[in-house]
Amino acid sequence: MPESTVDRYNEVRSRIEAAAARGGRSAEGVHLVAVTKYASIAQVRELIELGHADFGESRMQHFLQFAAQVDDFLERHRELGPSGGKVPDAIRWHFIGHLQRNKVKRILPLTRLVHSVDSLRLAEEIQACPLQREQPTEVLIQVNTSGERGKYGIAPAAATHLIDQMDTMMNIRIRGLMCMAPQTDDVDAIRSTFTRTRELFEELRTSSVTGDSFDILSMGMSGDYELAVECGANIVRVGSAIFGPPAEQDATPAANSSDA
Ligand SMILES: *Cc1c(COP(=O)(O)O)cnc(C)c1O
Repeated sequence: MPESTVDRYNEVRSRIEAAAARGGRSAEGVHLVAVTKYASIAQVRELIELGHADFGESRMQHFLQFAAQVDDFLERHRELGPSGGKVPDAIRWHFIGHLQRNKVKRILPLTRLVHSVDSLRLAEEIQACPLQREQPTEVLIQVNTSGERGKYGIAPAAATHLIDQMDTMMNIRIRGLMCMAPQTDDVDAIRSTFTRTRELFEELRTSSVTGDSFDILSMGMSGDYELAVECGANIVRVGSAIFGPPAEQDATPAANSSDA
C-alpha cells in the first residue's frame, strides 16, 4: 500500500478508472466518496486541497465534529482569497451509517445524500423533519441483498413496497440504492450480491414506482470497490484504502513497534 494519503487516494482513483474501463464505462460516471470513519482531520484537509469534495461518515459524533472542522477550514480558505488552489467551494457530506430516528434532525441539515434509509419509520421521520429546505432531502434505499441476518437494510423483495409507500413524501427524493457486500473473502458471493443489487436497481429504475432522478447505485468499499464498479456501481464508499487501516490511522508509536 502506498505510504501517503495522497498516493493512496491517487491509486484508488486509477483503480476505479481501470475497473470502469473493464466495464465499458468512463470513470467520470463513478463518484468516489472518501469515508472518514477512521481518518484524521489533517488527512481530510489533504484531500480537500486536492479538490476532493465528497466525504462520507457513519458515526454521528465524528460526523458533526468533522463537518464543523471542515467548515472552519473552508471559511479560512475563502478569507485568504483565491489562491489558485483546487479547494472546492463546498463539501458534499454523505451519511452512510445506520441512522437512528432521534438523530435525523442533527444529521439532515449537513447531509447531501443519506445512503441508509431502510424503513418506513425512518422515511417518515425524514419527511417530518423541520428544515429550511429549498430541495427535498435526497436518499438511497439500503437493501440487504446478501440476506445476512443482523445486517441493516431492507429485504430486496420489500424495496418496491417501501418506495411506493414513500411516493407521497414530498420532502424526500429517492435517488437509488445502496448495499454492502457480505463479510467474506468469497469473491463469487460478493459479485453475486452486487449483481443482484444492480438487477434490482435496473428493475426499479424502469418501473413506474421510481422517478427520473432514480439513478444512483452506491456499492463497494475498500476491499471490493473495483468489483462493485465492474458490476455497475456509480458511487463507491472507500475508507481504509485511502486513509490507511484503522491501526495505522491511530498513529500511536506502539502501532509501529514490533512488539505491538
Ligand atoms: C466504514 C464504511 C465504509 C468504508 O469502509 P472501508 O472498508 O474502510 O473502505 C463504506 N460504507 C459503509 C456503510 C461504512 O460503514
